[in-house]
Amino acid sequence: MIEDHMMHRPWRMIDRRKSRQIMVGDVPVGGDAPITVQSMTNTLTHDVAATVAQIHALEQAGADIVRVSCPDEESSLALREIVKQVKVPIVADIHFHYKRGVEAAQNGAACLRINPGNIGSEDRVREVIKAAKDNNCSIRIGVNAGSLERDLLEKYGEPCPDAMVESAQRHIQILEEHDFFNFKISCKASDVFMACAAYQQLADVCDYPLHLGITEAGGLRSGTIKSAIGMGNLLWMGIGDTIRVSLSADPVEEIKVGFDILKSLGLRHRGVNIISCPSCARQQFKVIDTVAALEERIAHITTPMTVSIIGCVVNGPGEALMTDIGLTGGGSDNHQVYIGGEKAHRFNSGDKTIVDHIAAMIEEKAAQIEAEKLKSAA
Ligand code: SF4
Repeated sequence: MIEDHMMHRPWRMIDRRKSRQIMVGDVPVGGDAPITVQSMTNTLTHDVAATVAQIHALEQAGADIVRVSCPDEESSLALREIVKQVKVPIVADIHFHYKRGVEAAQNGAACLRINPGNIGSEDRVREVIKAAKDNNCSIRIGVNAGSLERDLLEKYGEPCPDAMVESAQRHIQILEEHDFFNFKISCKASDVFMACAAYQQLADVCDYPLHLGITEAGGLRSGTIKSAIGMGNLLWMGIGDTIRVSLSADPVEEIKVGFDILKSLGLRHRGVNIISCPSCARQQFKVIDTVAALEERIAHITTPMTVSIIGCVVNGPGEALMTDIGLTGGGSDNHQVYIGGEKAHRFNSGDKTIVDHIAAMIEEKAAQIEAEKLKSAA
C-alpha cells in the first residue's frame, strides 16, 4: 500500500511547515489537516442555479472549498441560497467594497477573501471583522503582486517578494490588532520565481496557514506546468496548507490538476494514480489510447490506488512492483497483470479489451479497500 511505501522510503517524506489551524466552515486548513484543494466559480454569482450547478461539478471532482466572487450586493445576498444547496464551504471574494464582506459573512460565507488594509476607515475594518467573528467566518488575506499598495511599489521600485511580504504583514497586523487570528494568507504572483520567494519568506515570518497559488498562470497546459513547478516546489519544501490552481479553463480542471500535484508528491491521495509509459515501437498494445480511455472510465473512483499501464517488459515489471495493480504488454496480445507487485494472471486482450479488464480490477480493488476501511473503523 502507498502508506507502507512512504514509511520505508524516507526520501519521499515531506516535512510540512508547522502552521496553526483555522477552520473554513467545517474544513480545517493548516496544522496537520490534509492539504485542501480549491477552485473558483466563473458563473454570475447571482445566477444561483448556474453557480450551484458549477459548485456541484467541483464537489464531484473533489473540491474541498469553493470561492465565489461577490462584486455586487445581489451576489453577496445570493450566497444565502447558494450555501443551502451545496456541501463545500464557500469563500466570498471581496474587492473594493467592505459592505459586500459584511453581507457575505451574514449570508453564509465560511471565509472572506479580503485585504483589511484595502477596506478603508477604521470603522469599516471593525465592521467587517465583527461580521466575520459573529458569523464564524474566517478570512483570507490575498496579496497579489499585481495589486500592491502604491507606497510599497515606490519603496521597492517594482513588485518583488519583499514588497509582497511587507504588504501581507500590514494586513496581518490589522487583523491581529482586532484580536482576529482566524485567517490564512496567500501571496500570489504570475511569476513563479517571485511567488515562490514570497511564500518562502512569508513562511519564515509567521505561522498562519498559507493558501498557495500561481496567479493568472495561463491556459490548461501552460498554467498546469507553471502551477506544478511553483506550487510543487513549495509543497516539496513543506510549505502550503491549501492550494488553488488558476487556469483559464473549466474550473473542474483546476481541481483535477490540484489533486494531481498533491498526488505526485504523495501529499494527498484521491482516486487512481496512473503510471504509464509514453509508448514506443516496442509497445504491445496502444498505450496512449488505453490510458486515455481508462482515465475516463475510472474518473468516478475516489479510493486512493496506484496503477501502472506499461507497453512492454522493458519497464513493466519494475513499475508493477510499486503499484497496486500493474499491466505489462506481452507478445501475441498476451499481457501480464500484477497485483501488489506480484504476477497475478495473464490475459488476452482479444477476450476482453484491456480497458474493461483493468477497470473491472480497479473497481473490485476499490470496493475491497473501502470495505476494509469500514471494518477497521467499526
Ligand atoms: S515501457 Fe516499453 S513500450 Fe513503453 S516506452 Fe518503454 S520500451 Fe517503449
